Amino acid sequence: MIVAAKIIWCVGVIAWFVIRHPHARRNKRIPARRVAKRGLEIVLLSISATGLGVIPAIYAAAGVPAFADYPLHAWQVVAGGITFLASLFLFRQTHAALGRNWSVTLEVRENHALITDGIYRYVRHPMYAAFWLWAIAQAFLLPNWVAGFSGIAGFGTLYLLRVRHEEQMMLDAFGSSYADYAKRTGRIFPKLL
Ligand code: SAH
Repeated sequence: MIVAAKIIWCVGVIAWFVIRHPHARRNKRIPARRVAKRGLEIVLLSISATGLGVIPAIYAAAGVPAFADYPLHAWQVVAGGITFLASLFLFRQTHAALGRNWSVTLEVRENHALITDGIYRYVRHPMYAAFWLWAIAQAFLLPNWVAGFSGIAGFGTLYLLRVRHEEQMMLDAFGSSYADYAKRTGRIFPKLL
């Protein structure tokens, strides 16, 4: 069963790359008008990639660190698979909605449009919500205290230290349109009226 869980994790990560690839290829040619927090961004992206990618990949391939293993139950594999699917579905929607306005690091592009429809009608950070779901799926699928939870720790660090800089950057670029938009929406959970 552990092999099945590791394969599901691996397929999920590959699917994530497949969804992102065309957007990354198209968007790298679009010039940036403003770049925010470049140094911090590189550190945060490395931490996130280590937690969501490097540590679980080492565990999936080599089973280390074995001391942190615990038994895997079938329900965890099911919950992990469903959570990863939900993450990928949401991730695809966010890329479709953001289109050419998406960037890996914090940037405002030439002719950047503020997106407030599609999935962005409800929450300001649906792509980060998709990353949270990925990190939770990893915790379900990999029965190891280090490799299972490194995604939550790694992405969590990026999220907590990035999101207010991103919102400040968007506020500087879009002024009251972004302020109004922020009033109507939640960060990762829809605002219930
Ligand atoms: N935080 C968003 C987007 C992540 S990608 C989410 O979780 O869905 C990061 C880039 O997206 C930032 O550099 C910013 O320029 C851009 N961005 C964030 N919110 C946006 C919006 N509502 N409309 C257009 N671009 C946005």
